[in-house]
Amino acid sequence: MSGVNIQGLSIKFGANEVIKGLDLQVREGEFLVLLGPSGCGKSTLLHSIAGLIDVSGGSIHIGGQDMTDAEPSERGIGMVFQSYALYPTMTVEKNMSFGLRVAGTPKAEIERRVNKAAQMLQLTPLLGRKPAQLSGGQRQRVAIGRALVREAGVFLFDEPLSNLDAKLRAELRRELKLLHQTLGSTMIYVTHDQVEAMTLASRIVVMKGGVIQQIGTPAEVYETPANLFVAGFLGAPA
Ligand code: ADP
Ligand code: MG
Repeated sequence: MSGVNIQGLSIKFGANEVIKGLDLQVREGEFLVLLGPSGCGKSTLLHSIAGLIDVSGGSIHIGGQDMTDAEPSERGIGMVFQSYALYPTMTVEKNMSFGLRVAGTPKAEIERRVNKAAQMLQLTPLLGRKPAQLSGGQRQRVAIGRALVREAGVFLFDEPLSNLDAKLRAELRRELKLLHQTLGSTMIYVTHDQVEAMTLASRIVVMKGGVIQQIGTPAEVYETPANLFVAGFLGAPA
């Protein structure tokens, strides 16, 4: 398990500063939800924690170590994206184990991790299937499983449920919550959906234009919004 400590983070694309001197302490084992409108910098922030883009200023510590310039593979994170690009020719089992095989993890260890993740995600009977033989919800479970087998201290989710219908979203929300309780890992979860934020978060970070507007528990943010933007975005009375 590990927390994430972000200080003075700035990210620019050309002259456009998308993240503006952001400070954020993600506590070890918490389920932190980043909530905000499209274009406010949620994915950019997540990608910088994952090491997929360079920062223009500031620092990112993961588990107490300075990871600002570390390679993605060195950061001890697992990531689940919105569009789960599974390998169509590989079985569920191969999709889940691919990253570990590339990393040279011993076979017995790969088997142990895949079986454990499959069990948690109710994928055990489906391990031999190809993605085309799965429902949308099952595919997204495989994408989550692919991240889980890394047994990382920190998991990053970028709107992982937004391509699913309402019923599946509700079901996977419950599973993610259970998964978090079982694993105890630190989760950073991006969404623009306030229902998702309210039901999953231990704390919510509300963002606008690359700046944090408020950090608090769902009740705090909903009942005492810091400003009109937060109130409006959550639909709470101003
Ligand atoms: P969100 O995930 O909150 O919808 P993003 O982090 O994807 O927002 O984007 C924030 C802003 O940064 C947007 O204005 C977007 O156009 C811009 N942006 C994101 N990625 C890039 C990139 N690779 N190059 C240039 N601009 C980008
Ligand atoms: Mg995004």
